[in-house]
Amino acid sequence: MTSPPPTPPRFRGHADLRDSLQGALARGALPATVLIHGMPGCGKQSLALWLARTRLCTGEHPPCGQCTSCRLALRLEHPDIHWFFPLPRPRGSLSGGRLSEALETARHERLAEYRAQPLRQEDATEVKGIYLATVLTIRRRAHRRPAMGPEQFFVVADAEFLVPQEASPEAANALLKLLEEPPDGSRFVLTSSKPGSLLDTIRSRALPIHLPPLSAREVAAFLRDECGTEPAVTEQAAIQSQGSIGAALGYLDTDGAASRQRDRALGLLQAAASGRRADSYRAALEFRPAGARGLLDMLAALQLWIRDLGAAALGRDDCVVNAGELPFLRETAQRLNVVPHRVARAVGQVEEARMLAQGNVNPQLFIAGLLLALEETLNPPERQ
Ligand SMILES: [Zn+2]
Repeated sequence: MTSPPPTPPRFRGHADLRDSLQGALARGALPATVLIHGMPGCGKQSLALWLARTRLCTGEHPPCGQCTSCRLALRLEHPDIHWFFPLPRPRGSLSGGRLSEALETARHERLAEYRAQPLRQEDATEVKGIYLATVLTIRRRAHRRPAMGPEQFFVVADAEFLVPQEASPEAANALLKLLEEPPDGSRFVLTSSKPGSLLDTIRSRALPIHLPPLSAREVAAFLRDECGTEPAVTEQAAIQSQGSIGAALGYLDTDGAASRQRDRALGLLQAAASGRRADSYRAALEFRPAGARGLLDMLAALQLWIRDLGAAALGRDDCVVNAGELPFLRETAQRLNVVPHRVARAVGQVEEARMLAQGNVNPQLFIAGLLLALEETLNPPERQ
């Protein structure tokens, strides 16, 4: 007997939200365009695909998981569910129809990879976009009749990539035109963890649906059922995930990007807390002089470390997420005499840095500046 082909993990949690979406679909009350937003890794795309499965299911209790439509959808092979996501720009100076074709080929390759390894983590440092050529592909399809069911779904994941930093907003404008007059039988589900970066005009066309983070218990259940993770590891990764299955998977992979970012962020906190300015400069020089894209996740990890330092200072070991480093956190909190308002200030400084890191910064100078600021906040010079 051959084993069944792997299917993406089912969407879980958020039962109330799913009930109300199902009700709206059944009453025909769901607008043609919705925008699912929430933190990275909280399940926005799973919800989008679940919504499509639910609408197109021909079984009695949609999504039944058994009917032809559900089975095709779970294998990501449903002809009426079109899943688009940011991709690197294909090599070569392609344009027009050839660029559209190359992007479609790349998209199908990604879908095949996803079918084979649904839990694989994305490379966050890759430069990606949703290009005008892709939006034109969506537009062509949206004007055709659905192939099987009564409607077709266009899921546009990480829709903030419609406006790449360096380019004109033409991809976003082309999509806007489509959303202004959606062809009959076509639905659009946009997802974004940065809805503020979308064009206002697109945001105002879509019904916003906020997907809150999962509880640590729900994340732990996912890791146990889908990954077969050991209980001790599961619990730790679930707490560190802060409600994001994507983040939890990153922590499970000790050689993975999330673990590397966490270690790198710890190095920065150690440098800023050492009281030796040379340590901060040395830590900053380990960054490349260009390319700030990888910094955002690392800064999020740094915020978590600073929160942990605050928890350790208050003796709230139960709130420390990175429990493996408790001795360092306790020692540092005591040595620097860390108090809550300074922790809050430091977290704010890193938050400000995260905003800046979305622009074009030199990582070495940027990290050096941040570390000196943190050093002063956490370890203020004694007044004479
Ligand atoms: Zn079904």
